[in-house]
Amino acid sequence: MSDLVLQPHRDFSVLRRHPWIFSGAVAKVDGTPALGETVRVLSADGAILGVGAYSPESQIRVRMWSFDPEASVDEAFVSHRVACAVGARAVLLADGATNAFRLVNAEADGVPGLVADRYGDWIVCQFTAGGAERWKEQIVTALQRYSPCRGVYERSDVDVREHEGLSQTTGVLAGEPPPDRIEIIEHGCRYLVDVREGHKTGFYLDQRDNRERVKRYANGCEVLNAFSYTGGFGIAAVAAGAASVTHVDLSAPALELARANTALNTCHVAESSFIQGNVFEVLRKFRDERRSFDLVILDPPKFAESKGSLMKAARGYKDINLLGIKLLRPGGVLATFSCSGLMTPDLFHKVVSDAAVDAKRDIHVVARLQQAEDHPEGLCFPEGLYLKGLLCRAW
Ligand code: SAH
Repeated sequence: MSDLVLQPHRDFSVLRRHPWIFSGAVAKVDGTPALGETVRVLSADGAILGVGAYSPESQIRVRMWSFDPEASVDEAFVSHRVACAVGARAVLLADGATNAFRLVNAEADGVPGLVADRYGDWIVCQFTAGGAERWKEQIVTALQRYSPCRGVYERSDVDVREHEGLSQTTGVLAGEPPPDRIEIIEHGCRYLVDVREGHKTGFYLDQRDNRERVKRYANGCEVLNAFSYTGGFGIAAVAAGAASVTHVDLSAPALELARANTALNTCHVAESSFIQGNVFEVLRKFRDERRSFDLVILDPPKFAESKGSLMKAARGYKDINLLGIKLLRPGGVLATFSCSGLMTPDLFHKVVSDAAVDAKRDIHVVARLQQAEDHPEGLCFPEGLYLKGLLCRAW
């Protein structure tokens, strides 16, 4: 095993159990470890800080496997991490409310670069770092052992792999290929998930608790589901008694699935409309037409991809929140989200309050929302909290 020595005074974050070591913190590496190879991490004064997976091309040069100086990373180690992650989900599933959930959430579960989601009888994985990639076969074996399934499918078609020097790839890793659409159940709602072509691994599982939360505000409401994807929030709202729902999304395939999901749930299709368009434009048009809603959901994609684009992203968030608030009837409810990890909860709060000021509306926060419990964040890894939301009432 190669040794990697940190620059003087650059051991602080490792001692704080943060799992990433950036290239600028590295003083020297013995030998030339390959992508994903395990290295021993030492401080400048020679103290052993733990072991991690080496990524020669990435700015994130090491992702820590363990802060135990004695740890050795082998099949048993990786398998144990998967077993712990899967075991930790048991309490979340006890009520049988869903058959779709995250089994392994990367750094928070001690397996940097691995996301594994369960959809009914299949597991869909994404490998985004050299370490997880190197142990792929053992990880897939462990997933099958601890969460028996009909098949494991890979969705490693994400740009971030290129920072690691890995090419994008998809396909069956074990067992049977998944059907084109897998039907899942979530708190009484049924959704078809396209695990081959859909976003992420197919569905926004991280919003499960928030879809459930919004239901209690939906009865009798006219709902605007902006950035609807395959219907998620809107279908949940109709299931909870909403009078109508307007889904808006840019993606035609997402809206096609939203229609199929609406039919599957025997929601009254006549009271569901599906608008393919840019939310920024559609909401402006609604404003000009003086349309209004009782419940507005704003769940945009990640606007901030880098620190440099954060301020531009903030303007985008403010713009849609301003439009969304203006469309709310007095007493109406806004569920607004940001999944940009770079946008802190404080900054998001400021953006939404700036929008309320510009809209000249009094708004109170009913609840602060975040990603579901099967997407835990490492306590020493604040980057793990990426999804934030505010549930508000506007007067
Ligand atoms: N709320 C959804 C997930 C939304 S993901 C759920 O619970 O499942 C974000 C969605 O925004 C994607 O479906 C994407 O196609 C859509 N999108 C991105 N930019 C958009 C834009 N400018 N206008 C409309 N939709 C957009």
